[in-house]
Amino acid sequence: MRFDDLAPAAADAVRGASGYLTDLLTPTLRIGVTGLSRAGKTVFITALVRALVAGGRLPFFSAQSQGRIDGAWLEPQPDDAVPRFDYEAHLAALGREPPQWPESTRSVSQLRVTIAYKPTRLLWRALGPSRLHVDIVDYPGEWLVDLALLERDFATWSDEAMAQAASPRRARAAAPFLAFLDRIAQAGTARDEQTAIAGARIFTEYLAAARAADNALATMTPGRFLMPGDLAGSPLLTFFPLPAKLREQGVAAGFPALLARRYESYKTHVVRPFFRDHFSKLDRQIVLVDALGALNAGAEAMTELQAALDAVLTAFRPGRGSWLDLLTGRRIDRLLFAATKADHLHHESHDRLEGVLRVLVERAMSRADDAGALVRVMAIAALRATREGSVRQKGGGELPVIIGVPLPGERIGDETFDGRREAAVFPGDLPEDARGLIEAGREHPRADEVRFVRFRPPRIVETAGERVVAPHIRLDRALEFLIGDRLA
Ligand code: GDP
Repeated sequence: MRFDDLAPAAADAVRGASGYLTDLLTPTLRIGVTGLSRAGKTVFITALVRALVAGGRLPFFSAQSQGRIDGAWLEPQPDDAVPRFDYEAHLAALGREPPQWPESTRSVSQLRVTIAYKPTRLLWRALGPSRLHVDIVDYPGEWLVDLALLERDFATWSDEAMAQAASPRRARAAAPFLAFLDRIAQAGTARDEQTAIAGARIFTEYLAAARAADNALATMTPGRFLMPGDLAGSPLLTFFPLPAKLREQGVAAGFPALLARRYESYKTHVVRPFFRDHFSKLDRQIVLVDALGALNAGAEAMTELQAALDAVLTAFRPGRGSWLDLLTGRRIDRLLFAATKADHLHHESHDRLEGVLRVLVERAMSRADDAGALVRVMAIAALRATREGSVRQKGGGELPVIIGVPLPGERIGDETFDGRREAAVFPGDLPEDARGLIEAGREHPRADEVRFVRFRPPRIVETAGERVVAPHIRLDRALEFLIGDRLA
């Protein structure tokens, strides 16, 4: 064999190896995107990825506005065991006529975007363009509450869950579950798998009913009972809390032990792997909060949201010896709290929305701050569905309004919308004193100042060669905070 024959293959090998090396040398930034159900995670990730990949005007995302980004593209997922975030399907929903909001997050998923950029430093620049892998990890905030289980055994968790079920606010939702426990106490027949399965189902229905009654904000454990992800129907989810009486007297030999074993398996096979494999690997985190939705539902919902966020955000608590500390090799160094759907308000109220969020996450902010993370609060709209206008009032003067197409079936006063007609909505003013609003809510269960309807999203169509960012509010600032420094 002559050398000439070898050369192309060898050249390929060298090229391949250098590609491999470039890839190994390319730094990775892992960004977690979380929030409670319907907070806006799917929309945020879709908009963010599109803004990176399609390019366009993003004045506050410095690498982009300085023209230093040479390109950004999706790459195959690095972790074969994690489902891919279905970016294309979500984008396709937004491209339909009429456009639809994409389907929400139900489980963990991930996407890798690689950015080629010119560094600002001349020395680095001389070496050619640099690359950064941005891995975006989407997961339900509901799963974070399970962190609390790691420190509780079955008896402690059961006692807490029973105390919650006994609270007057949950009375109606909990009634079938409590009746079920009474039945097994009287019959003394609870001994088998079937009872565990039936009990878990009724307990899950109770959690769902409690969440619905609490304006979809309550976060009770176990997180997977309401957001099972790929575990729906798994034996790992077949347990429920047993009151002390039933645990101690034993409804039937072995049954409390069966439930306790299932509970421990849930911790071992569900909770710990999630924190170890996903949460602990994040470098940065954005927590999305639908503060406006809660404001709209009334001040009581705000108090609920605050409690729910507190439960969720203890996961960001530092502290030596805590479970998280044991599981976490590295630390989140930037944490962004974002109030989503700011396009439901006139821009004059955006700062106030930020103020509301700041009050809601105060405790978690100071915890993260203590841990040395850079923390920021922002009001954003990943995808802006409205524009601003003003309406002349009868008595003179202008009223600031937002204009958009309310989704079919949305109502304001007596009017029901058909999903086609545009409407100008006066969204109301957010209170200047956010803390007062939440405090007052404890005594006056409704705050009717804000009006909120769901609007149709803007249609996103890809036009070859055109670099247009979909309308948004402060998405570029969020990008700058989350990625900007890594593209310097
Ligand atoms: P997830 O459950 O956290 O993934 O929530 P989604 O991203 O699916 O968002 C839930 C719903 O909130 C969407 O279907 C939209 O109706 C609304 N939404 C989310 N982001 C925005 C936004 O930027 N602007 C507006 N107007 N609505 C939004």
